[in-house]
Amino acid sequence: MALHIPTLLVVSVFIFFLMSLLTFHAWLRETRERPLAYLGAMMLLAAVGMVLVSLRGMGMDYVPKILGNVVLLLSAALNWTAMRVFAGRSPHVPGMLAGAGIWLALCLLPAFYQSMTVRVSAYSLLTVGYGLLTLLEFWRSRRQLEVAYMPALLLTLLHTTYYSVRAVIDQGLAMDQALKGDNTGAMLFSLMLFESMLYVIGIAYVTLSMVKERVERRFKEAAFCDALTGIGNRRAFMVNGERLLIECQRHAVPIALLLCDLDHFKRLNDAFGHHTGDQALIAFSQVLSENLRGKGVFARIGGEEFACLLASTDEQAALLVAERIRQAFARLPLLEPGLLSVSIGVVSSESLGYDLPRLLSLADQALYSAKDQGRNRVTGSLA
Ligand code: GH3
Ligand code: MG
Ligand code: MG
Repeated sequence: MALHIPTLLVVSVFIFFLMSLLTFHAWLRETRERPLAYLGAMMLLAAVGMVLVSLRGMGMDYVPKILGNVVLLLSAALNWTAMRVFAGRSPHVPGMLAGAGIWLALCLLPAFYQSMTVRVSAYSLLTVGYGLLTLLEFWRSRRQLEVAYMPALLLTLLHTTYYSVRAVIDQGLAMDQALKGDNTGAMLFSLMLFESMLYVIGIAYVTLSMVKERVERRFKEAAFCDALTGIGNRRAFMVNGERLLIECQRHAVPIALLLCDLDHFKRLNDAFGHHTGDQALIAFSQVLSENLRGKGVFARIGGEEFACLLASTDEQAALLVAERIRQAFARLPLLEPGLLSVSIGVVSSESLGYDLPRLLSLADQALYSAKDQGRNRVTGSLA
């Protein structure tokens, strides 16, 4: 089937332009996502470059041969930069200009400037270079990306493979012949246009979905995080706690709950100011992190209230952990000795089962018993 190359050219320019507008629009809606800006610019340059390389036989050979390819190589460089920025690194300006620079230098060689075949191979190899750099960005950052990056990686791999093959087999097709569409090279030319269109649409879609996935993940993390202390909040505790309880029940291991309430916190705020109160809350969450890391789930569930669920821990062991936390907090040099203290109520699944609201309610009773007995102490289950 003979494809009409001028039509394909016009369609590809319009598709690149449209995709560029849509990507810029997505970027403006989510301005912190710079990869979208680079990707939009990549598509805009692809549209402009495509127009420029088509301007053959107009007595300005340097426009398609030099300018057109320079613009297309800058477009490939922006594609690499978009993925590099997405992976958390800053744009590499010398690398971005290298492809265009090499092209300009090669065009100074008459043998290069005159040979369509050599130019097609050189252009394809430079595109392969940017493709490999893009793949490297994905591979290097694969553990930090935290999104489904495989579709983007596979798409880039296909694109790079296509240009590797093109560098070897494509003899090049003079644009005037291509526009007539009656040359054997016309098939490869149409394939190249098809591939570019599919790649641009594909990469825009997968990048947008990666950006969205990351934004959603960040919102979710923020919704589960206490802004002051950086540890989990009440929502995180309820969700992760329920999960841990189910796991412990399934493995028939005990789980303990520690409910901590800082003592006379209102008085502390009144005497030393809200800022010092905040520092005390941060310091207490650090004490929890140091003592409980990897042992379970802990969070700030209220103003100066913290809850901790310890997996595979019976009440006796939990009382020891709670005592360690109480002493560590009291020893902090933030304020004079005696001013920082915490009361902790401890319960466990052994006597109360694996029901979180029930455990919380009985831990609350244990906590208030600790308060009644004079604060700055750990009280076990009253059941
Ligand atoms: P008790 O020993 O009986 O627990 O007394 P308390 O003063 O600690 O308890 P109360 O519930 O009366 O007061 C809690 C105080 O915690 C009141 C509130 O101003 C303070 N608070 C809650 N959230 C924050 C916060 O984010 N920062 C600061 N600095 N204070 C907070
Ligand atoms: Mg309280
Ligand atoms: Mg309190």
